[in-house]
Amino acid sequence: MNVKKIMIIGTGGTIAGTGNGASALTEYRAGSIGVEELIQAVPTLERYGPFESIQFSNIDSSEMSPYRWVRLALLINDIAKRDDIGGIVITHGTDTMEETAYFLHLTVDVDIPVVMTGSMRPATALSADGPVNLLQAVQVARSESAKGQGVLVVMNGYIDSAREVAKLHTTEVGTFGNAQLGHMGCVQNGKVYLYYAPCRTHTKDSEFILREEVELPSVGIVNLYGGMDTEILTMVARQSQGLIVGGFGHGTLPQGVRDTLKKITIPKVRSSRIGNGIVSSNSSDIKEGLIVSDSLSPVKARILLMLALQRERSREDLERIFARY
Ligand code: ASP
Repeated sequence: MNVKKIMIIGTGGTIAGTGNGASALTEYRAGSIGVEELIQAVPTLERYGPFESIQFSNIDSSEMSPYRWVRLALLINDIAKRDDIGGIVITHGTDTMEETAYFLHLTVDVDIPVVMTGSMRPATALSADGPVNLLQAVQVARSESAKGQGVLVVMNGYIDSAREVAKLHTTEVGTFGNAQLGHMGCVQNGKVYLYYAPCRTHTKDSEFILREEVELPSVGIVNLYGGMDTEILTMVARQSQGLIVGGFGHGTLPQGVRDTLKKITIPKVRSSRIGNGIVSSNSSDIKEGLIVSDSLSPVKARILLMLALQRERSREDLERIFARY
């Protein structure tokens, strides 16, 4: 029987970055090495082949955008139709990896493993973490247990679900996870250990699978801070079809913000600037036309709202969506 290929899609990031010498850990140019070169640089990787690769982009992930997310999802949906492909690995910058991961988690029609990885140190650095991360991502993509788990992020030996994962530190190599919920599993000596599975709907069961190019509605985020001029909310709302408000603590909104939001008629989601823990519904939310983000951080709530607002939705429908995904 022919062994199926792992498709490796390069998008850029620090994993493909080069700096000025081995001690340059934070100053480098992200996205300067091609995906083929990355593959060649990983000792023993060939044991997990065969591989095919595609250079989707070679950018710093701060340049990721809904436009690119849509195209990446469509590419993956095309690749997943091929019966010679057994898994997909995406190399990506770490800065927006959690956003791309959650977007794909909701929009790709796959059952095969889809694994994202990157690195915190550029390829030229001493103790670069890219090669081991790529090796472990491929090991996860080859494993039976990663099938049907949605989009996974593999970094620093840990496996996380796209919905829960976040970048938690600016420079440490052990930066990905969820401060509250822990990791889904780990990969050690080439073996994959999974302990939890995602409970929320994703990939092939999602109602947001992308089949054609779409222009997603614009959804803005405003994270609150003490003494904020509430006019900012109005300005952002004017250019948006949906609004995420990162409130204080448990999504707390001061009176001035509440009064301003009452005048804004687009769908509004109350999230928390903390990005950890849940925001659950208060009795005043219905009256004030607010939906709560559950455990989604503002950036992830934005992705879900963008996908949901591809058509007009009732408040009840948006509530259902935020409880389901
Ligand atoms: N700025 C880089 C990026 O997100 C950081 C990284 O990949 O670690 O592309």
